[in-house]
Amino acid sequence: MTKKNEEQSINIYDLLSDEVAEIKEEKKNRRAELLESIGVEDRFEDGSINIDMRTCRGLECNLCVKSCPTNALYWRAGEIGIEEDLCIHCTACVLNCCVDNCIKVTRKRPNGKTETFSTPKEALGVNRLVAAHNAREKVKLRVEDSEECSINKF
Ligand code: SF4
Ligand code: SF4
Repeated sequence: MTKKNEEQSINIYDLLSDEVAEIKEEKKNRRAELLESIGVEDRFEDGSINIDMRTCRGLECNLCVKSCPTNALYWRAGEIGIEEDLCIHCTACVLNCCVDNCIKVTRKRPNGKTETFSTPKEALGVNRLVAAHNAREKVKLRVEDSEECSINKF
């Protein structure tokens, strides 16, 4: 490859990666707007969800669809469809699915930690930790409030 050709291919590569970055940004903004319009907050940096229709119990089960807080799951020609822009990777569907490893949710926390859930036990474990953390935070706030009240008395 001549030097000129080499420069041209590098420029095309730069243009393409700029375009990809732009498309990703647009997609991210569209998703944020959509979630905001339904009053839902996405607490994760990134994530994905997969459903194995070979092990799914089908329409008679429907537990994941019923448990999804954002209506990201729906039935389409006998299979579960996923509206990825609506999925906030909360794991409620994994928690309710009666078949282990049928639904797999992976998500990345703002601190960079990546987690994967594919059984109710795994999802329950993290939900308990979150509930315990929230309860501790509430107690802390109450203690701080009551300390402030006591201080204000003096
Ligand atoms: S992870 Fe949460 S938001 Fe996503 S499909 Fe499952 S229940 Fe719905
Ligand atoms: S909860 Fe699991 S088994 Fe039931 S419909 Fe959803 S994916 Fe299928």
